[in-house]
Parts: sequence; structure tokens; C-alpha cells
Amino acid sequence: MKIFYKTAEIQEHITALKKKGKSIGFTPTMGALHSGHFELIKRASTENDISICSVYVNPSQFNVASDLEKYPRTLEKDAEGLTANGCDILFAPDNKEIYPNGSDYEVDVDLQGLDLEMEGAKRPGHFAGVVQVVKRLIEITDCDRLYMGQKDFQQFTIIRQMIKSLEMNAKLIVCPIVRDEDGLAKSSRNTRLHPDHRKKANILNRVLVQAKEWLSEGRSPIEITYKAMEYLDIPDFRPEYFDIVDGSTLKKISNTDQVDLIVACTAVWAGEVRLIDNMILKGKL
Ligand code: AMP
Repeated sequence: MKIFYKTAEIQEHITALKKKGKSIGFTPTMGALHSGHFELIKRASTENDISICSVYVNPSQFNVASDLEKYPRTLEKDAEGLTANGCDILFAPDNKEIYPNGSDYEVDVDLQGLDLEMEGAKRPGHFAGVVQVVKRLIEITDCDRLYMGQKDFQQFTIIRQMIKSLEMNAKLIVCPIVRDEDGLAKSSRNTRLHPDHRKKANILNRVLVQAKEWLSEGRSPIEITYKAMEYLDIPDFRPEYFDIVDGSTLKKISNTDQVDLIVACTAVWAGEVRLIDNMILKGKL
């Protein structure tokens, strides 16, 4: 695996690959890689001639300074895992390689309100930062396919809208959520969970499974949300939201009849760590 730290250098390398007609699959990450990330990397390497992964902790998508500071950084171990999972190129830039003119690089794109719901409402500025960095990375890697996880449902929905609206060439491929054996969705932030909280953290998955059952029994989204919030309210845990939304518009629904894709999305504080998870309750991606 080749490792690049400089934008100009990786771009030169990619230009040469493209001249040879190579297809490129790209997976953007913030590192502290786990098997959820590696599923994306493996798929990118199977479906493309070249699999590229970026490891970059993007400051502009953090709205709380301490979260940015405490974000785990494990580049050496990440590089080993990437090699083992068929990655061809690791891009590990620093801030000036991504934002050479400072962070005022704004992306003008109509997100059709997708960025105002759920995470957007709770983490002001977060999606502006995500759109900014993913656009820049797609441009640098000139990828044919972009690999993202269903774990961040709102994120991939927004990136899909960005790609469409800006008429970018990259095709978005969404991969299923990888979970630990007890059901907790894999996340780089899980390493920061207090051991007692880790033991209880699969409550998010258990309540999502329960919500799916409730919906199939004909209970209303409002009732399910109310009950789910109650179930998630255990000692040391604080649920922020449990929304049942139309998977295309991300708007909360009250009636399920006309909606093809129904998704439950939740964010819960487990002590100091904020966990997010989701589950498709009806329909397919
Ligand atoms: P991150 O490093 O958290 O920014 O994540 C990089 C990519 O990996 C995003 O597209 C995530 O949705 C995806 N990802 C993270 N965790 C998982 C998981 N447990 N299962 C599937 N994809 C994941």
C-alpha cells in the first residue's frame, strides 16, 4: 500500500492511474479503523481496480472542541489494517493539504433541508463541514465510486444529494451497518465508552429492533418514539432523539401508509460519549 500525505502528490499518482484507465473506489474515514470501515474498504477493492482510503479528522465537522481533541488517532495501526484489507492507497493529509486557503472554503449546494433534521438540528454546522470535506476529497481522488456506511444514515443521504445537485461523477455505494456481537454498532467512539456503559450500550440496537416489531404490529410512529425514548432513558444514558422518518426526505412521519422507506434514527449519550444508530423499519435502500 502506498501512503500519501500531500494532495499534489496523490493527485499526480491518480492522474497517471486514470490515464491507464483504472477505476477508483474511495472510502473517506476519520481513522481509528474497525471492521465496519474495513467492510467498505474490501468492497471498494473488489469493485474497482484501485481502492483508496483517506484518514483525516476534519475539524470543520466538529461542533464541540473537546470531541475533536478526544477523537482517537491511530494512524499506524490503521495503515496495517488497510493493507490487510486490500487497500491500495492511504491518503493521510493534514489541515493545510485539505484547506490550503483556510477553512473558509464553502460549498454552495441545495441540500433540500436534509441537513436541518436530527443530527443537523443537534450539531449545528456539522453537515456543512461534512459536505465541505467530502466534496474536496472526491475532487482530489477523482473516484468513480464512493463508499459510505448506513451507520451514518443522514450523512450518506446528504452526500447523495450533494453528488446529484453538483452533478458529480462519483457513484455512491452504501454498505450495511457492522455490529459487535451484542448488537452495538461499531464506531471509533466506542473505545471511549466506560466499561459499565459499554455493557449497556447495546440498548440502542435492542430498542431499534423493538421499534421495527412495534411498527409491524401497526403502532403509530408517535407512540413508538415515545416508548423508545422511555426505554432508552436508563441510568447514565440520555437519549437525545429517536425519530421515525421517511428515508428519502428525513422528515418525521406520522402516517406510514404512503412511505416506501421508513427508518428509525437515534442519538443517545452514554456517559460522555454520544452514540448514533439507525434501522430500516420498512423498505429497502
Ligand atoms: P468515520 O470514520 O466515522 O467518519 O466513518 C467513515 C465511514 O465508515 C462512514 O461512511 C461511516 O458511515 C462508515 N462506518 C462507520 N462505522 C460503520 C459501521 N459500524 N458499519 C458500517 N459502516 C460504518
